[in-house]
Amino acid sequence: MIDLRSDTITKPTRAMRQAAYEAEVGDDVYGEDPTVNKLEEMAANTLGKEAALFVTSGTQGNQIAALTHCRPGDEVILEANAHIYLYEAAGFSALAGVQSRPLQGERGAMDPEDVAAAIRADDIHFPKTSLICLENTHNKAGGAILPLENMEAIYQVANKNNIPVHLDGARIFNASAASGISIKEYAKFTDTVQFCLSKGLGAPVGSIIAGSNNFIEQARKWRKRLGGGLRQAGVIAAPGIVALRDNVDRLVDDHENAVRLASGLASIKGLKVENIVETNIILVNVKDAGFTSSDEFLEKLTSKGILAGSYGPLTVRFVTNYHVSKEDVDKVLTSVSSII
Ligand SMILES: *Cc1c(COP(=O)(O)O)cnc(C)c1O
Repeated sequence: MIDLRSDTITKPTRAMRQAAYEAEVGDDVYGEDPTVNKLEEMAANTLGKEAALFVTSGTQGNQIAALTHCRPGDEVILEANAHIYLYEAAGFSALAGVQSRPLQGERGAMDPEDVAAAIRADDIHFPKTSLICLENTHNKAGGAILPLENMEAIYQVANKNNIPVHLDGARIFNASAASGISIKEYAKFTDTVQFCLSKGLGAPVGSIIAGSNNFIEQARKWRKRLGGGLRQAGVIAAPGIVALRDNVDRLVDDHENAVRLASGLASIKGLKVENIVETNIILVNVKDAGFTSSDEFLEKLTSKGILAGSYGPLTVRFVTNYHVSKEDVDKVLTSVSSII
């Protein structure tokens, strides 16, 4: 099977398994796991933040950000198609007790003027705006890169109003690989950042949340409260170290494959690539190829040994990842042609 459903399907490399096997460990709730400590230090340095925390998932990292930055009854500004808003089971309201204020963006980027206008005035009727969330790359917008200038402009608005900015950077390494802008540059226009080790970087488990020492101290307590305090976690942190060491530079391969796949698909009659492919996600509309649903297309594709995801009634999503080679991309194109 050639699996293009997601970059979360990536399985740990040999080097990751070896690192897990050999990891030096201790009780991380006591702060005594040297491998976790090393990963957190490495992540903080990469982001240019004072401190970082290893968390079980991207969702947990984002939830901890809301729990730490906000109080129940506060309001959070985010983009209308943000992962936090669409795909985290309303955790912001269920756990942090905050109200989301979604703003429609352009390819995932909110207009800084809209953000400024959405910030609540001090009024007895209003909730307090206590967080602004950004997402880079933007998942629902098809892996779109948030322009650095957009992040900077929103950060300035936030600073002027004393509101922290949290970046859901699940795929910030993809943004950096594609744009050539360093992770630190992106992180400069944020107060806190979450990124996933378990997507294109290929680690089996985990995310990082980073920010100031003071933020991470409080975040650590929230992680414990959520049941995310882990013991000999070096075993799962070690593959994360390998991910940051070995798998960052190769993300460009995924992007090259994505462009190759997208241009091939676009040349097949009836298929329409819906997004501008900047990173590793391709959204394809199958309606004009005579399909009545994305599932119908996917069923035929599966029979050819290829997996992709449904991303709407008539939209199919392909995500390149390190198990997919250039030759696989060509096989996919041949197979898609054959089912149309
Ligand atoms: C995958 C993803 C998350 C959540 O990460 P999990 O580890 O699956 O919980 C958050 N934000 C974005 C943009 C994502 O793509």
